[in-house]
Amino acid sequence: MQLAEPAWMTEELSIIRESVRKFIAAEIEPHYETWESDGIVPRQIWNKLGEQGFLAPDMPEGYGGFDGSYEHIAVVIEEFARQGYSTIAGTMLGVHSGIVAHYILNNGTEEQKQRYLPGMASGEIVAAIAMTEPAAGSDLQGIKTTAKPDGNGYVINGSKTFISNGQHCDVVIVVAKTDPEAPGSKGTSLLFVDQDAKGFSRGRNLDKIGLHSSDTSELFFDNVRVTGDAVLGGLNNGFPVLMNELPRERLTLATCALAAVEGALQWTINYVQERETFGQPIAKFQNTRFKIAEMATEARSLRAFIDECTRLLSNGQLDTATASMAKLKATELQGEVTDGCLQLFGGYGYMREFPISRAFVDARVQRIYGGTSEIMKEIIARDVLGR
Ligand SMILES: Cc1cc2nc3c(=O)[nH]c(=O)nc-3n(C[C@H](O)[C@H](O)[C@H](O)COP(=O)(O)OP(=O)(O)OC[C@H]3O[C@@H](n4cnc5c(N)ncnc54)[C@H](O)[C@@H]3O)c2cc1C
Repeated sequence: MQLAEPAWMTEELSIIRESVRKFIAAEIEPHYETWESDGIVPRQIWNKLGEQGFLAPDMPEGYGGFDGSYEHIAVVIEEFARQGYSTIAGTMLGVHSGIVAHYILNNGTEEQKQRYLPGMASGEIVAAIAMTEPAAGSDLQGIKTTAKPDGNGYVINGSKTFISNGQHCDVVIVVAKTDPEAPGSKGTSLLFVDQDAKGFSRGRNLDKIGLHSSDTSELFFDNVRVTGDAVLGGLNNGFPVLMNELPRERLTLATCALAAVEGALQWTINYVQERETFGQPIAKFQNTRFKIAEMATEARSLRAFIDECTRLLSNGQLDTATASMAKLKATELQGEVTDGCLQLFGGYGYMREFPISRAFVDARVQRIYGGTSEIMKEIIARDVLGR
C-alpha cells in the first residue's frame, strides 16, 4: 500500500526522517525490548537524542534548537511512533519536547528560557509536567497541591501521580494552588521544581499494562521551597497558560496516534500476504481484504485531517476544539486499528516478539492521557453547541 505522505513533507524533512531511521536502527531497535523489561530507558538515551538534534528542532537557535517549525518535531515523533517506539514518541519527545519546552518558550522569562531550554535541547535536562493528582485528573480544578507564599518565594506541599519522565526528570513543572481561596480555575500557578530541591522526592516507577519503558511516577512535595522566580507564566495564571498550550499538546498526541496507525497497517499488510491458511495467503480472504480496505481508508482520511490541523497550528490558527477532535479521532482510531491488525496476526499477534502486540497495549493509554476521550467530547460539544 502506498501510505499517504504528509502534505507538509519537504526534502529537508525527509532527510531528517532518514536520520531518525538510521538512529533507530543503530541505537533503539537493538535495545528496546531490554528497556521494556527494565521499565525505563537508560538516561544516556536522552543525551543521544539531543546530540542528533531530535529533542528541540522546533526551538529557536538561541535556545539550542534549529529554528524549525512544528513539522520538524512532528517528522521525528512520527517516525518513532510509526516504527512502534511509543515511549520515545509519546512520553519522551511528546512530553519533554512537544509540551514542556513550549510551555517555557511561550510563557517563560528570558532567565527561565536560558536556564532550561538549551539543556532540554541537548538532553542534559529532562523535563516533566505534573498536573494529575491521586484525586484529580480530568477535573484539574480539584487539585490539592499548594504553593504558599513564604518570604520571597513559595512552599509547595502535595503529591502528583502518573507523571511521565518522573524517574529521569531533572525539572518538573508543578501545577499548584497559589490562592486556595480563589474559586474554580483561578488561583492556580505553574512552578518549576528542580530535582535537587529539598523535600522533593519520587515514588516508585509505576507498573503499567503498556508503554513499559516509559518511566511513570508519583512525585511528592514536602515543604519544597522555591524562589519567587520559579513561577512560570505569571502568578495565579496557571489555567490560561495550560489552555493556551492545549492545541499543540493535543495535536502532538494525535500525530503520534496517526503514525502508529500507519505503522501497524504496514506490518499487517506485509503479514497477510505472507501468512497462508487453507492453501492461500490470508490476504485472499474477503474478510481480510475488507478489513484492510476499511482501515487503510480510515488512515488516509485521518492523515488529511491531521495535515490540516498541522497547517492550522503552524499558522497560529488551531483552536482547542479542533485539536480535541484530532486527538479524539486519532487515538480512537489507533485503538481500533491496532486491535483489528492484531486480529489478523492471529496467535502471533499476541506474542511479544511481534511488534503489533506492543502497538496494541501502547495504544490504550492514548485515549486516557492528555485528556480522556470523554473530556474531548465535552470540549467539542461545548464548541459545537455553543455551551
Ligand atoms: C501512562 C500515563 C502517563 C501520564 N502522564 C502524565 C503526565 O506526564 N502529567 C500529568 O499531569 N498527568 C499524566 N497522566 C495522567 C492523565 O492525564 C490522567 O490519567 C487523565 O487526565 C485522566 O485522569 P484520571 O486518571 O484521574 O481519570 P478520571 O478523571 O478519574 O476519569 C475516570 C473516568 O471518568 C471519565 N470522566 C471524568 N470526568 C468526566 C466528565 N466530565 N464527563 C464524562 N466523563 C468523565 C473519564 O473520561 C474516565 O473515563 C498520565 C497517565 C498515564 C496513564
